[in-house]
Amino acid sequence: MKLTEYEQEYLEKFFDDGSYRVESEPEHWIHGGDEGFSYCQKCCEKEVKRLTAENPAEEYSVDGGWKIEGDNTPYCEKCGKLLENTLTDYGCEVEIDHFLTNGFDVTSDLDRRSMSEVISSGGWEPFARQLFKNEDERENTLNYFDDLHRLCRSILIKIGK
Ligand SMILES: [Zn+2]
Repeated sequence: MKLTEYEQEYLEKFFDDGSYRVESEPEHWIHGGDEGFSYCQKCCEKEVKRLTAENPAEEYSVDGGWKIEGDNTPYCEKCGKLLENTLTDYGCEVEIDHFLTNGFDVTSDLDRRSMSEVISSGGWEPFARQLFKNEDERENTLNYFDDLHRLCRSILIKIGK
């Protein structure tokens, strides 16, 4: 059964409250280097210095500092710090599957942060006028939101709401 708007708001607040307690910072990467690697700002600056010293002919610089889309939550390549992005539809699906399979820990701020990211990235409903490429895509999207509401219903029950 779909969550009511009141239940959605309640859960958003619950997820956000956990999320605020988790330290994170904007994602950075190295312009001119391998942009597939993510860093916190400090480590990115260090890596730019190191690479520039190694290859003086190349131009490296710190890039990023804003949210880009990613299939998963980024961590700093060097120090492991949690970084911020926006999850793709695929990234949201992976998180929901993970929690449906492994369970959601209502006492974990990290789990709450993950769901806060899922909601802020993918929302509660498909866009009202969303166009689908084909029937598979339509079905996949509707299944995703069914799973999301099923998971969130179970979380509400766990927190006694
Ligand atoms: Zn770092």
